Amino acid sequence: MEKQQHFLIVGAGVAGLCIGKQLLDLNQRVTIIDNDQNVSTNIAAGMINPIVFRRMTKSWRVDEFLPFAKNFYSNFGAEWGGKIFHEITIRRMFSSQQEADFWLEKQSKPEFSAYLTPLSEEDLNFDKAINDFGSGRVKNSAYIAAIPFVEGAKNWFETRNSLIKESFDYSALNPSTGEYNNIRYDGIIFCEGVAIQNNPWFSSLPINPTKGEILTIKASGIPENESLNRKCFVLPMGESSFRIGSTYQWNTYNTVPTKEGADEITANFRFLSKEPIAIIDHHAGIRPTILDRRPVMGAHEKYSNLFVFNGLGAKGYLLAPFLAGEFVAHLLNGVPIDKEMSVQRFTKPNA
Ligand SMILES: Cc1cc2nc3c(=O)[nH]c(=O)nc-3n(C[C@H](O)[C@H](O)[C@H](O)COP(=O)(O)OP(=O)(O)OC[C@H]3O[C@@H](n4cnc5c(N)ncnc54)[C@H](O)[C@@H]3O)c2cc1C
Repeated sequence: MEKQQHFLIVGAGVAGLCIGKQLLDLNQRVTIIDNDQNVSTNIAAGMINPIVFRRMTKSWRVDEFLPFAKNFYSNFGAEWGGKIFHEITIRRMFSSQQEADFWLEKQSKPEFSAYLTPLSEEDLNFDKAINDFGSGRVKNSAYIAAIPFVEGAKNWFETRNSLIKESFDYSALNPSTGEYNNIRYDGIIFCEGVAIQNNPWFSSLPINPTKGEILTIKASGIPENESLNRKCFVLPMGESSFRIGSTYQWNTYNTVPTKEGADEITANFRFLSKEPIAIIDHHAGIRPTILDRRPVMGAHEKYSNLFVFNGLGAKGYLLAPFLAGEFVAHLLNGVPIDKEMSVQRFTKPNA
């Protein structure tokens, strides 16, 4: 059994929640502090799509990340009786003949067999969406119900006296001793998403805040048993409501939903359907993206008890459970962090 240490986690987005759960499972003491200013995990559609359609490639390390994520969310949800991991088929409506040809070429390759359903006559003639070049179904895709996940997980930590609902005060931390508000922690793990910009020890990391807007609509005549995709995703939420999105706007911390954002999403939706829609909700959030598009994790170069886990970008729900496991192995057992994700690529680039 691991020696018990006490860790303070700043931020209860998907990053902090995944690390906190895995530390508690290993009999560690955990305190999470969160100020309820979430601008990403709560806004996200929570989709897990194993395929990058533009290039018809697999999502980065999806073969490792996906089974881990499925187990993690299913088991965590089961602890409070909530179902948060939902399998769903994604139906890609091809945007060109070239894309359909790519699919045909890839569907017979063993490395794609877990994700691409071989094209059928029915897929090519699918008539519940605008069909210019046929469609293909992605299996092993899923979504996490964002709000039930965050609320369920936060309650779970609260009942274990492991959640404090307030802002972390950077000036109250002694980085040399790990002391914060008269408690000495063995490690402080910063998972603040884009609010890392306020962090005196890690604000120099090259975060590229990426705004995203997302709509909830009511519509009829759109499939409710699968998620349509072309230029945007359409995630069925039951009773004729759908989440559709999203937009990408780089280098802004502004979280105000805009008319331009809504117009862009609805214009993209028109490539899938001509059905009338009613917008019933509109949100904007900020994805914590690192310039080189890889997460960032590891210890501060001077204060070895301060850690960062950030940069989950547009795929936090897929990446966080597995990478939190790698991070925890580093924290407790000194397992080295993959160079591709290590904070040292920015702090000691020539090491
Ligand atoms: C529109 C949109 C759609 C998305 N869709 C998807 C999707 O379909 N699939 C997917 O995988 N990902 C999606 N994402 C991306 C995903 O949301 C992120 O990758 C992920 O949520 C990042 O999580 P995080 O925990 O690093 O940061 P955050 O979710 O931002 O969490 C940081 C937490 O830290 C807290 N905090 C910050 N500073 C302090 C402080 N000083 N004191 C106390 N607490 C603090 C905040 O309140 C917040 O709760 C989407 C994002 C957006 C914006």
